[in-house]
Amino acid sequence: MSEVISIQNLSKTFGKKQVLNNVNLSISAGVVYALVGKNGVGKTTLLRTLLGLEIPTSGESKVFDLNSQKYDWKIRQRVGYVAEGLQMYEWMTIREILWFVSRFYPTWDFEYEKQLVEKFSLDRKAKIKHLSRGFKSKLLLTMAMAHRPQLLILDEATSGLDVAVRREFLECVVETVEKEGHTVIISSHLLQDVERIADSIGFLHNGKIEKTYSVDELKNTFRKVQVSFDVYPENIELEGVLHQQQLGRECMLTIRDYNQLHEKALREMGGKDIRIVHMSLEDVFVECLTEEAII
Ligand code: ADP
Repeated sequence: MSEVISIQNLSKTFGKKQVLNNVNLSISAGVVYALVGKNGVGKTTLLRTLLGLEIPTSGESKVFDLNSQKYDWKIRQRVGYVAEGLQMYEWMTIREILWFVSRFYPTWDFEYEKQLVEKFSLDRKAKIKHLSRGFKSKLLLTMAMAHRPQLLILDEATSGLDVAVRREFLECVVETVEKEGHTVIISSHLLQDVERIADSIGFLHNGKIEKTYSVDELKNTFRKVQVSFDVYPENIELEGVLHQQQLGRECMLTIRDYNQLHEKALREMGGKDIRIVHMSLEDVFVECLTEEAII
């Protein structure tokens, strides 16, 4: 698979503040990559650097093998970008802005634009300033996708949208990705969204992305195990336990690389009714990442 993104030793400081510290990352074509991390860790800065909108202090990034600084315009013609708070000409109508934006993209597909406008029930006569937040996001996604970009960057694109609109928005992304084999980078603090669409996930922490995980691998690495005891043991000492919570005579354990040896040890302590409880990506993030167990 060819590489769509290649980042090498990229650092960025704002004044004295080092936001990115030697980031290395490569993303192959056709992958839906989630960039996750706490607020203010530098996700937006990294994504803007890819598009040539921020200049790195050192290091280099390439998109489609083109240097982000030298070929920013060429890159942007092949990328769909939706970011929280992206400004539009509020006085324009939907028809006007779509026409205006289409001029910048040689690959604009008017038939596809029509399909997206219908899918999202966008009224071409409506003025942007009168649109709700949800419709503005749908319009931004239409603008980002109608030129059939090879790479879609969604930076907190679903923040502030209600659940139904978020779902519609993501379904559209998933559908397009599956049909056209696009590469997507999604940055979101909404891990339900990430879980729904991402293949791989990278955690930005202290200015670095230490490792990229597959979403399935992440969810399979950590298990929440519920076990009950007639007599609660004084000590539950097991390898890989990240969290332990006693609820009466029951215990809820979050365990890394749970296996039969754990189960055997729990039984030897008098444990019964051992059940594995489903962990969402959000559970993994909250319970395991804060322990710095995997970053
Ligand atoms: P995230 O997207 O992870 O929330 P950002 O990339 O927006 O993080 O910001 C990372 C840090 O860089 C924050 O502390 C933010 O205040 C700072 N920052 C971002 N852009 C600028 C800028 N243009 N000037 C100064 N500081 C900035």
